[in-house]
Amino acid sequence: MRAAVIREFNKDLSIETVADPACPETGVVLKVDACGVCRSDHHGWSGEHPRVKPGAILGHEYCGTVVETGRLAKYKVGDKLIAPFILACGSCQACKQGVSNTCPDQVAPGFTMPGAYAEYVAVPFDHNLVPLPDSLSPALAAGLGCRVTTSWHALTDRADVRAGEWVAIHGTGGIGLAAALLAKAIGAQVVVVDVVQEKLDHALSLGVDAAINGADGKAAEKIVELTGGGANVSVEALGIGATTNGSLECLAPLGRHIQVGMPVGKTARMEINMNAVYMKNLAMYGSRGMPTWKYASLLDLIERGKIDLKPMVAREIGLSGASTELHAMNGPTAPGTAVITDFSG
Ligand SMILES: [Zn+2]
Ligand SMILES: [Zn+2]
Repeated sequence: MRAAVIREFNKDLSIETVADPACPETGVVLKVDACGVCRSDHHGWSGEHPRVKPGAILGHEYCGTVVETGRLAKYKVGDKLIAPFILACGSCQACKQGVSNTCPDQVAPGFTMPGAYAEYVAVPFDHNLVPLPDSLSPALAAGLGCRVTTSWHALTDRADVRAGEWVAIHGTGGIGLAAALLAKAIGAQVVVVDVVQEKLDHALSLGVDAAINGADGKAAEKIVELTGGGANVSVEALGIGATTNGSLECLAPLGRHIQVGMPVGKTARMEINMNAVYMKNLAMYGSRGMPTWKYASLLDLIERGKIDLKPMVAREIGLSGASTELHAMNGPTAPGTAVITDFSG
């Protein structure tokens, strides 16, 4: 099969013909219909992700069609499925308790095994997958495996956002924009922060209540002023120190900070304003992925037209186009994400 392979960190991916994946006993092989290019991929591509080494195939935001099934697979050949980036074992305590996103035996294609920047991907533990609704194109559905599900779980479960609350979102890349649209769908008031004006304008055009350019380092103060005392919930969607502190500092007393940006490599340990946490009695939540059982509530929201995912996808690209996207993530990027939908080269 054709695949985009990391041969050297920070260099163009190598488009190669590699061996087709072997079918796992507990899952399926998918013909990849679409795979999103995510900022988490940049961490792997740049060598900052501890599990991604040269020879790796990235790609964790995918959907596809079953072409082969293992002995214990739940699905059958021809099924069109969306895969979450966390594939949980299904039998441990975490999985049984409904928090499969914390499964200690999880695997994650694109990080711990070959991902979906390829024509085919092996997917063990296929009970994690859900059927692709007819109403969603593969390009839109691809993001459901990562940015949309992660945001949904962070807002509805970790921070328990309620209608009318002020939600601040720091960073309007894939995950930030998804969080903004979902928070609006929940009925919250939403203010987004970014340093790229075009992204702020894009978010405003999609219905967020306010947008603040954080380039001057004063986003937190401006949010406190705008909201009359601070946001109730604040989402950090980049995984870096400046926005994590902006998030803590923009909160009202008793506010909830949610870490959805991935702090890895240089930012894995960062200096944060613990005084703000202490003085304002803040709560800090980490949030990664989403338990599989929550797909139903998210897909219901989409099917009822409460959220339109189309504005999240800026462009559909070919396999060889992923390198350009990854290089671009060395700096601030334009609105929306790229999705690989052509795997011919
Ligand atoms: Zn992702
Ligand atoms: Zn498990």
